Amino acid sequence: MQESATLNPSLDAPQAADAIIRAEKIEKYYAQPSQNRIQVISATDLNIVPGEILALLGPSGSGKSTMLRMLTGLSKPTAGQVYWHGKPIAEAEINVSIVFQSFALFPWLTVLENVEAPLQARGAAPAERRERSMKMLDMVGLDGFEAAYPKELSGGMRQRVGFARALVVEPEVLFMDEPFSALDVLTAENLRSELLELWTKKTMPTKAVFLVTHNIEEAVLLADRIIVLGRNPGRIRTDFHVLLPQPRDRKSEGFTQLVDYIYKVLTRPDTEPAEAPGQPGGPRVRDQRQMRYQMLPHARPGGIAGLLELLLDKGGRDDMYRLADDLSFEIDDLLPIVDAGQLLGFLKVEEGDAAITPSGDEFANSEILRQKELFRNAAIDNVLLLRQIRRALESKSDHTVPEDFFLDMLDEQFSEEESQRQIETAVNWGRYAELFDFDAARRRFVMPDALEEEVAEGEDSK
Ligand code: ADP
Ligand code: MG
Repeated sequence: MQESATLNPSLDAPQAADAIIRAEKIEKYYAQPSQNRIQVISATDLNIVPGEILALLGPSGSGKSTMLRMLTGLSKPTAGQVYWHGKPIAEAEINVSIVFQSFALFPWLTVLENVEAPLQARGAAPAERRERSMKMLDMVGLDGFEAAYPKELSGGMRQRVGFARALVVEPEVLFMDEPFSALDVLTAENLRSELLELWTKKTMPTKAVFLVTHNIEEAVLLADRIIVLGRNPGRIRTDFHVLLPQPRDRKSEGFTQLVDYIYKVLTRPDTEPAEAPGQPGGPRVRDQRQMRYQMLPHARPGGIAGLLELLLDKGGRDDMYRLADDLSFEIDDLLPIVDAGQLLGFLKVEEGDAAITPSGDEFANSEILRQKELFRNAAIDNVLLLRQIRRALESKSDHTVPEDFFLDMLDEQFSEEESQRQIETAVNWGRYAELFDFDAARRRFVMPDALEEEVAEGEDSK
């Protein structure tokens, strides 16, 4: 096991006593088929306290759902402990509900029966079940739809049923895992503000809300406190309070400052985050470990070129927030491209702005063959995996190396799926830069021309 960073040195200390859920140094590892195990979450402390909407924000794969599962007792941490009102969660009688992105309704039950289901499971009498469920349906704006079946409802209405079903048991903590991300923009916005109204007016029978999201604005709109998770392994990058009054104005300075701040944290995975703007009291910055192996962001060379050209068009620099907005991109779309641009030295992120560097400028202004050459040089200089593949090919007399050689190395840190994606991206970049090619049939890397020669030889011998 590696040395774990001491997270959360002080922020939670005064709150720890009245925390509903308290996680102490929880870690999660998953076994790999190769017998390696990968760490998905590194030792993390986290408290859920009454009166707060806590948003857990992070790119996909950073371990948000894994964290939620551990905090709700659905999954046991590999190390560390989760407490429910001070008692180990496995031994406690917990009262939480979870709303999932996928609605997860029973298709064979009516709306009313779906909402009644958790009460039935808890043994409530039929009359009480009915009364409480009707009240919840009323609260989420579904009166009149009791007898409908889920398939008759729109996505937004189905998620309302999801909320009613979650709230009907009066959970002490309401957990939500990307509850709005399967909905269209307007429906999501509508549901968000209704949920917020139920919460601020205390109509909602719940003491705390834990919201998992990859949407920065959603977090800043709703949350009293935001924890930003980094990836590889999942860890807290920063943890801060949002003190803007509700309802929040997306255009206000405080709002855009926080959005910019979060972008800055997310686009600099290797840099210790600064303190969030507008914080009361002492620093909120969390400890952070260096990544052990550089992770290739999953961006296409064409996407990187496109972003650089767009930036050039805008005078070489633009606000990340505005860029994402102009492109209708979510962080999961934009971040990999920005990460890739940074990794290659083509752009920098400063104060929430993406700014083109001199070499990025040259790249964006060059014609295609020169672009490939610049990309190749930047890749060899900056990208470890590409350099390693190229060196291995150069040093072998037959100029080929099996994919497994690199998979075994990647496997020590990434999940099997992620290792495979790392290879795919490397192949993508390597081909574009003409650093190497990949023989998919034999699962081997080859020098760029070797593949053609081999095919030609094969044909000759026929
Ligand atoms: P998020 O919700 O932030 O997208 P997850 O918690 O779903 O992230 O996953 C975090 C990481 O853990 C990912 O790399 C994922 O591939 C890996 N992972 C999740 N569940 C499992 C599992 N059961 N076995 C192996 N790896 C897993
Ligand atoms: Mg998830």
